[in-house]
Amino acid sequence: MAKERGQISPSDFAQLQKYMEYSTQKVSDVLKLFEDGEMAEYLQGDAIGYKGFQEFLKVYLEADNVPNHLSLALFESFKTGHCLEDTVKNDLVCLSDVSCYFSLLEGGRPEDKLEFTFKLYDTDRNGILDSSEVDRIIIQMMRVAEYLDWDVSELRPILQEMMKEIDYDGSGSVSLAEWLRAGATTVPLLVLLGLEMTLKDNGQHMWRPKRFPRPVYCNLCESSIGLGKQGLSCNLCKYVVHDQCAMKALPCEVSTYAKSRKDIGVQSHVWVRGGCESGRCDRCQKKIRIYHSLVGLHCVWCHLEIHDDCLQTMGHECDCGLLRDHILPPSSIYPSVLASGQERKINKASQKTTDDLSLSTFEALRIDPVSNTHPLLVFVNPKSGGKQGERVLWKFQYLLNPRQVFNLLKDGPEPGLRFFRDVPGYRILVCGGDGTVGWILETIDKANLPVVPPVAVLPLGTGNDLARCLRWGGGYEGQNLGKILKDLEMSKVVHMDRWSVEVIPQQTEEKSDPVPFQIINNYFSIGVDASIAHRFHIMREKYPEKFNSRMKNKLWYFEFATSESIFSTCKRLEESLTVEICGKPLDLSNLSLEGIAVLNIPSMHGGSNLWGDTKKPHGDIHGINQALGAAAKVITDPDILKTCVPDLSDKRLEVVGLEGAIEMGQIYTKLKNAGHRLAKCSEITFHTTKTLPMQIDGEPWMQTPCTIKITHKNQMPMLVGPPPRSSNFFGFLC
Ligand SMILES: [Zn+2]
Ligand SMILES: [Zn+2]
Ligand SMILES: [Zn+2]
Ligand SMILES: [Zn+2]
Repeated sequence: MAKERGQISPSDFAQLQKYMEYSTQKVSDVLKLFEDGEMAEYLQGDAIGYKGFQEFLKVYLEADNVPNHLSLALFESFKTGHCLEDTVKNDLVCLSDVSCYFSLLEGGRPEDKLEFTFKLYDTDRNGILDSSEVDRIIIQMMRVAEYLDWDVSELRPILQEMMKEIDYDGSGSVSLAEWLRAGATTVPLLVLLGLEMTLKDNGQHMWRPKRFPRPVYCNLCESSIGLGKQGLSCNLCKYVVHDQCAMKALPCEVSTYAKSRKDIGVQSHVWVRGGCESGRCDRCQKKIRIYHSLVGLHCVWCHLEIHDDCLQTMGHECDCGLLRDHILPPSSIYPSVLASGQERKINKASQKTTDDLSLSTFEALRIDPVSNTHPLLVFVNPKSGGKQGERVLWKFQYLLNPRQVFNLLKDGPEPGLRFFRDVPGYRILVCGGDGTVGWILETIDKANLPVVPPVAVLPLGTGNDLARCLRWGGGYEGQNLGKILKDLEMSKVVHMDRWSVEVIPQQTEEKSDPVPFQIINNYFSIGVDASIAHRFHIMREKYPEKFNSRMKNKLWYFEFATSESIFSTCKRLEESLTVEICGKPLDLSNLSLEGIAVLNIPSMHGGSNLWGDTKKPHGDIHGINQALGAAAKVITDPDILKTCVPDLSDKRLEVVGLEGAIEMGQIYTKLKNAGHRLAKCSEITFHTTKTLPMQIDGEPWMQTPCTIKITHKNQMPMLVGPPPRSSNFFGFLC
């Protein structure tokens, strides 16, 4: 869309944000100087000229040398055609517009921002917004919409209608209470007034430095980027340039949502020159001569690659290609305000009254997915697995719509969950370690979702027992993500048990470490196993360089497990604790234990199976377990236990006794796979009489004498990967 006069460019905006980051000034401080301080001289009514505006920037950005092109571009942006007649004539801008703009870019609580804007536009300070003041607000909203490239002609009548709705009591003017209520519940006021910056597709490429294994040609100057030389490639559209050509590159074509009603519903191909990596045309199947010049076109959504000449024979409609089941095309995301009036009312009616104002900002965009697809909500922990996490993040941004892909370090899981909340049929993919998965599951618990979506895992880093049990492997090693997404499409749902753990300490002088989690997803243990994990944890913090590969991790475990000193605290564990299984005491008298482990999943510490293999379970595992479980909630009979197979969805836990540190070392290195099977049960209570090492899901701590109660919490739908080609290594899923 052609930009109107007075728009600031993406690079200007980026520069402005840099200045704002470094400045400590607030708009309200600057306004004081205008109102009754040293800068009052610049005021002409509520307006200021360019000189006054420059002073404003100087104070606000705490910079004496704001580049002239930047302040001029900003100044012009406040003088768009919608501004008041006389200010345009006299080359002035309204101070309240300027203040509103900047204050909304500032951080702060939404309710404070709303109140601030109300006061800004209540120019006669009578505590209500009359119709002319409301008109000014609409003008400001139009300016923001223009900046976001929305179709402004559609917007004006909608905004007028909306402002009428805000006047709740029909008095013809808007009170502060009405304004705040509207901002909280009905109208995305903050978005419209203030550049909800996450809504801006700013036309900037997302550059990555890249060396190319074959000759490629610069999208700008079309000459070759030498073999093995470094160029820049846009992560979103695969536009490629020489370093020195980046400044002059055309804007990025990738638009992440529909900005006009006509773009809602049907997705068109978005062609970018070059990027034909396969060298073959998807239309005519003939070769594309990519080695000699910048040729061919590729679509940034379906990733088809075609000859320039084949373009005329292609239809417009884009089906998003092989990964369409996962993709939210831009045509399926659009600003809520562009929804028809009736739809908006339905939307409003379905909203619960909420005190959480920040919610409203996330309803700025609506999702209406392509029918029969399962849009994927991707969470990436870029810190997991070394550089792998970051790579996965930007690969998914290319494969899917960047609005589906969330960086957990930046915003955590909440914004993504809120954005997808009402999307039918969506799935979640968590890219990270078991700890990251636990974090997401906990957030889902708390989010109170109308429908809990199934969760798949792309394991990053080491020791991913949960991912392993769900057949997503122990750690991602650069495999093709497209293929993994295809696997995900075929995956099945299991309802994984989750367990509450309550630790009630006895009153002692001694101090405990804090208990790391209240929920068990994987396993819990007391004694020697936890002690090993504890030392391991401390050593890892101390000597990270020794723990940089999975193999080395195993060796360290072995070393700790076999060293003499560690199991002295846990020796004859059965004398310092008692165990109750579903209310009945468990007899430990014939054992000499150094640890007890409680398993929800059969894999521990990167693939060890403490429960051990069950000899050839014939038939349906669920059936077998149900048959056993129906008769008894608790199984302690050793003969029956021999036939039991772990199942992470049977609402039962497996309890295993660990009889020696040497043995533990063997378990970690897979020389030996099992502990002593004690029970299968649905509830377990421990009483301990001395300080012991414990761990939940691999997080160790030292715990003073206490009572620990483990009970079933809920089940979470998890996606299980396709079965491996070889036979099952152990038990149910692994
Ligand atoms: Zn781009
Ligand atoms: Zn170039
Ligand atoms: Zn396409
Ligand atoms: Zn062709």
